[in-house]
Amino acid sequence: MGHLPLFIDVQNKPCLVVGAGSIATRKLSMLVESGAKVTVLAPNSTEKVSKMSNEGKIEYLQRIFKDEDIKGQFLIVAATDDTNLNIHIADIAKNNGIFVNVANDSSAGNTLLPSVVDRAPMKIAISTGGASPVLARLVRNKLESFIPSAYGNLAHLIKDFREIVKEKFSSVDQRRKFWESVLQGPVAEMIFSGQEEAARKLLREKIKDSKLQDGVGEVYLVGAGPGDPDLLSFRALRLMQQADVVVYDRLVSEPILKLVRLDAERIYAGKERAEHALPQDSINSLLINLAKKGNRVLRLKGGDPFIFGRGGEEIETLIDENIPFQIVPGITAASGCASYAGIPLTHRDFAQACIFATGHLKDGTVKLNWKMLANEKQTLVFYMGLIGCQTICEKLIQYGLSSATPAAIIVQGTTSNQKVYLGDLATLPGIVADNNVQPPTLIIIGEVVKLHKKLRWFHSESNNEGVSVKTYASFFTKKID
Ligand code: SAH
Repeated sequence: MGHLPLFIDVQNKPCLVVGAGSIATRKLSMLVESGAKVTVLAPNSTEKVSKMSNEGKIEYLQRIFKDEDIKGQFLIVAATDDTNLNIHIADIAKNNGIFVNVANDSSAGNTLLPSVVDRAPMKIAISTGGASPVLARLVRNKLESFIPSAYGNLAHLIKDFREIVKEKFSSVDQRRKFWESVLQGPVAEMIFSGQEEAARKLLREKIKDSKLQDGVGEVYLVGAGPGDPDLLSFRALRLMQQADVVVYDRLVSEPILKLVRLDAERIYAGKERAEHALPQDSINSLLINLAKKGNRVLRLKGGDPFIFGRGGEEIETLIDENIPFQIVPGITAASGCASYAGIPLTHRDFAQACIFATGHLKDGTVKLNWKMLANEKQTLVFYMGLIGCQTICEKLIQYGLSSATPAAIIVQGTTSNQKVYLGDLATLPGIVADNNVQPPTLIIIGEVVKLHKKLRWFHSESNNEGVSVKTYASFFTKKID
């Protein structure tokens, strides 16, 4: 049977649902939401149907179906548990030129009710022609997760400005180009990130000065998480797939870089200890220059941009230059490594607080408030702590923590190369030296570390406890701590 996808106005149109089971209820809800005047006909009601009837959303008739019930109906849903009755209803409906949908039998009726992704006023309907409602639902779930929920707001915005744009651009071609640039540029991104007022203002400016549409680029400051690509957010992935240029850090893993739009230009800006690929100032001006040329610039950073990521410095300069930007959080190494190592960062019995600290040595010393750090009932997480590991452990003991305080070092956390080494403040530096531990590494100190033995669940190729899966040749683009 050939089906024409069609959206029909059912506002205030009489529609009949025969049956009150779960399928009938789902379909009747769709009809009610679309504004139809629905009557439900079934000998037995369900809680939901009674509730809707009491609320005046539908009319409920408690009896069995009679042929004359089809009279005056615009659309009928036959969803009783009697297959023959459903077919009978479909036959008489079709003979009378009425749209009819039959539950679990796409060929008996003449109308399919699709799975819907609702971004009102935008709606996406999915049908498998009756072959598999489960498949339709799976496709719907994929679209649900990939299409920003704010698409509806975007559609509203366009609707509000349609007439003004029509007046400004006389040809259809000009209008198409204009809207394409709006929908793929900063105006749309502002809507997606909840900046509705700013979006309207920019759109008004663009309409006034149509040359602007090619001029302004934008910057997406995106957290790529600790390594496993599955830990990217939906928004991160979407922006990665629409960027023109990507400026990425050393901590962005290869599998994640592979998800960036294939033809996007790639610029490595990793800051390494000895060899600074690009100083911070140059990164800042690079972002500005690229955006000013009209590019959608993806600034991709390991973990979260606002945790030891200098995200704040980079956007400050963007603000000075009036360049639109948005910030997408990522899963920071502490969260990622802790979860994948089975070490909860807080625990009612062991740790009521958690401190993220940098172990980065400046002039050979780690300048930290050791008094505050060397306390019990809290978890300490050290980023960039590999080289300073010995100093960190010594200082914590010196300031009062027991040398038997459990400590772990997690290497390449969340990736297929993850390794977890367990020890305590006395033994951790030796473990690091004996195993020639390489960055990136994260140090977790506190009683919670003991829980690893019980809660560990993630097994990687390089797991020091010996479970083998698969490996990426070089997971991180550069290795440095
Ligand atoms: N913005 C990042 C941190 C950047 S600082 C974030 O939120 O995670 C760089 C430090 O992060 C590294 O030196 C290391 O200590 C830590 N790190 C990042 N990814 C890691 C990983 N996959 N495994 C272990 N440590 C990691």
